[in-house]
Amino acid sequence: MAAVLVSGTHLNLVRIAMIVAILGAGPAGMSCANACLSFGLTPVVIEQSGEIGGIQLGNFHPNLWLLGEPQETGREMSERMARHFAALPLTCLRHACVTAVQGVAGNFIIQLETPVGLQTLCADAIVVATGTHPRDTPELAALAGQSDRVIIGPLSETIRDDIRQSRGLILGGGDNALDHAVFLAERGNQIRVCTRSNFSARQPFQDTCNANPNIELRANCTPDSLLIEANQIVATWGRIKVRYDWLLAMFGYLPNTELLTRFAPELRPSLSRSGHIQADIWQRTSVAGIYAAGDVTETPQPSVPTALAQGLVAARAAERDAEQLPPMESKAVPHPV
Ligand SMILES: Cc1cc2nc3c(=O)[nH]c(=O)nc-3n(C[C@H](O)[C@H](O)[C@H](O)COP(=O)(O)OP(=O)(O)OC[C@H]3O[C@@H](n4cnc5c(N)ncnc54)[C@H](O)[C@@H]3O)c2cc1C
Repeated sequence: MAAVLVSGTHLNLVRIAMIVAILGAGPAGMSCANACLSFGLTPVVIEQSGEIGGIQLGNFHPNLWLLGEPQETGREMSERMARHFAALPLTCLRHACVTAVQGVAGNFIIQLETPVGLQTLCADAIVVATGTHPRDTPELAALAGQSDRVIIGPLSETIRDDIRQSRGLILGGGDNALDHAVFLAERGNQIRVCTRSNFSARQPFQDTCNANPNIELRANCTPDSLLIEANQIVATWGRIKVRYDWLLAMFGYLPNTELLTRFAPELRPSLSRSGHIQADIWQRTSVAGIYAAGDVTETPQPSVPTALAQGLVAARAAERDAEQLPPMESKAVPHPV
């Protein structure tokens, strides 16, 4: 049996189809929910933030990898998808946090903290679509807490609008670091990019930076110390001290798998060496009834089209696997918040 039990007065008992709990409302989660409806499943989407759309909500660059709207920025694309999603007949819980997951395929019991209190969702299947977050270090996190001129991760309106005619230090050696060096140099900024070993960015990015007099690329160049003085960032290399107006840390992204620690041990999917959830071509994880889609998985090319496709496949897999589950009984869905 699978049913949804909700605390307090927010109980809405109905007889409904198989329930798929989808964790995360980025492209992967939204696509999965949409596909669930096509396949006759009942999606319940759980999003920890207040916004639907995922990490692209912060992207002011056009999305070159999605056919259809070449001039549309990542944010505009996410908002378009979110409008479609909002019109779908489904339950979406925002500001909702998974606190525990127990049970088995066909009867997972998911404890949630929501703005209207604790709720319990019983679902037949779970799709983890929680994406990634920018990697940082404790030192950088502390600096970012002291000054809004220290930015961890590349997507922000500050980068787009506020950083002009100034001196900036970028830490990181990948495509994102160099892409932003070029973006900021075009706005009259003097940029030094430091990476702790060699640059891993694609060669065309490196060539573009090397050809730009406003960009200095320095390999094997981790600062000995970083501190904030008079709203500037002071970086030290040996006896050399340089003041910067901005510091951007672009160390890549880590999968949002922390919530798996709240799953019962036998329900925690296997992770790859990089910490991503391992999923097969059906987006099945190592745990029956638990699927994963989008950037939280080990995937060759993380992107919006990939996430959309994987969300769709996860829904299809859940539908196929449901044929093995015991027959449905009465269920209920929680009120949206
Ligand atoms: C700087 C940058 C530039 C990019 N540029 C492009 C591009 O040009 N073109 C392109 O196609 N792709 C691009 N990508 C990749 C693209 O953004 C991702 O592949 C895509 O957003 C992945 O979708 P997702 O749904 O897996 O994850 P996300 O978009 O990260 O969405 C995950 C969602 O899960 C939520 N969540 C997280 N933890 C929890 C939790 N514990 N419980 C509930 N909800 C949770 C988050 O709040 C979020 O809403 C870029 C990525 C970055 C970082």
